[in-house]
Amino acid sequence: MSDKSNRKTSITTRVAQALHFIEAETGAVVPAIQPAATYARDEAYEVRKPYFYRRDGNQATAHAEAIMSELEGSTDSLLFASGMSACTAVIEHLPTGSHVVAPRVMYHGALHQLQTYAANKRITLDFYTAGDHVELAQVVAKTKPTLVWVETPNNPNWEVTDIAAAAKIAHDAGAKLLADCTGTPPNLTRALDFGADFSFHSATKYLNGHSDITAGVLSVRETGPFWEEIILIRKLQGTVLHSFDAWMLIRGMRTLFLRVEKCCKNAMAVAKHFHGHKHVEAVLYPGLPSDPGHEVAKRQTDGQFGGMMSIIVHGTEQTAIDVARFCEVFYPATSLGGVESLIEHRKTVSGEGFPVHPRLLRLSIGIEDADDLIYDLEQAIARAVG
Ligand code: PLP
Repeated sequence: MSDKSNRKTSITTRVAQALHFIEAETGAVVPAIQPAATYARDEAYEVRKPYFYRRDGNQATAHAEAIMSELEGSTDSLLFASGMSACTAVIEHLPTGSHVVAPRVMYHGALHQLQTYAANKRITLDFYTAGDHVELAQVVAKTKPTLVWVETPNNPNWEVTDIAAAAKIAHDAGAKLLADCTGTPPNLTRALDFGADFSFHSATKYLNGHSDITAGVLSVRETGPFWEEIILIRKLQGTVLHSFDAWMLIRGMRTLFLRVEKCCKNAMAVAKHFHGHKHVEAVLYPGLPSDPGHEVAKRQTDGQFGGMMSIIVHGTEQTAIDVARFCEVFYPATSLGGVESLIEHRKTVSGEGFPVHPRLLRLSIGIEDADDLIYDLEQAIARAVG
């Protein structure tokens, strides 16, 4: 006898099938793209729910948001035109004068935005060292923030913050916790399950996985007036994800589990190979047992650790730039989480004011053959050190 009606399929199946999508009219297993910017009213001159105008959203975006909610275990998820527009909506919804506590080292764009709002006296800002829970607790207890910002693992040093510990620290002080887990997508880290109030991802990265759109997603365990405020900001600023990009994101998410598993395996092989290498001073990767964040990462990333790492090469700043220049398989490009591996001299990209080691190279490990990646880095390092 079939128990079909009672058995819940796994999240892997649901995401691979875009929530078992079947178009009612045609039976198509792939959604159509509806590009309309406006929608006609009905015969009674009423708005045909749920869409009225492009800035309210559209079918493809709502479909992608439903998949995100399944992945995150959220009550609701909202998609934006970029990760930065989602981050900005969160900052923008804070009442004037709100206090925010954020890591000293984090994604430089979000840090820049926090600093801009602070310079304009919209918010006040204090910092803690990423991964240092003692300092985080001290800063939060002393400054009583409205919002605590965590990025884990953080860009570009891949320090790990214990989301559950950070949530307790934030909640004890009456603050909300935002966890930017872009480096480990929700098939590895479900921040809401660990107590975060907002889970954020730049969906440009692993969620889409093909480096061909920008998108950002915010997810919450509980909605409320603050969430309505964020929805209104998205609508008034026109930062909802476009239907075409939402369609691309749905297609990308269908292979999320497969892609990320391979990225993690490859990253572990690359990290192990270069750990202790004579031309490499350090490999920053939470998957290495010697990494200070290893134990927390093991719990928090389903034992898989992600595909992001950095290496600090011996030599000079120019040696590091040359390694990036001489790679023939890795692309010398910014971003992360795509199927193709990228290498980036982070100081060149994040600018002089940002605290980053001058010989640090950020690696986004893709789904290629791990031996090709290792060989490529070996030959680039050999050429760079002369
Ligand atoms: N947060 C992190 C950790 C990121 O790495 C990025 C982009 O690199 C962002 C936020 C911003 O996302 P987007 O580039 O989609 O605007």
